[in-house]
Amino acid sequence: MATRPVTVIRGADEPFWRAAREGRLVYQWCPGCRRAVFPGRIACPECLSPALTWLTSTGRGTVYSYTVVRRTRHPYFAARVPYVVALVDMAEGFRLLATLEAQPEAVAVGMPVRVRFEPLGEAFGMPVFRPDPDGAVGDP
Ligand SMILES: [Zn+2]
Repeated sequence: MATRPVTVIRGADEPFWRAAREGRLVYQWCPGCRRAVFPGRIACPECLSPALTWLTSTGRGTVYSYTVVRRTRHPYFAARVPYVVALVDMAEGFRLLATLEAQPEAVAVGMPVRVRFEPLGEAFGMPVFRPDPDGAVGDP
């Protein structure tokens, strides 16, 4: 059975992948702009401040957009088609791309989702989302 390919992990975003292995979804916060910064960077892309801090997300968000993958060449993913990949707007104001574990016909823009994590090797984790029928962004 094919294993999930490991993302190239390096630099400023490494704490994100390590936290995911511990079951936490983290993002950076710029105290100067008072905004979320994602993915991890060495400085705020808006004001260039290096004073970014890591915060833990509630893990709740809504689907901004999505696509259904129906064909792929990698054996790990080929065994899972069709599957959904979504852009998720997190309650804290950042957006990320991740797998959404749901039947494609059940997915809709704006639907509430909640994160869970899969191991990605020994040191890292991969966030994946599921529908959260009880969820409402801003009401964690
Ligand atoms: Zn800033």
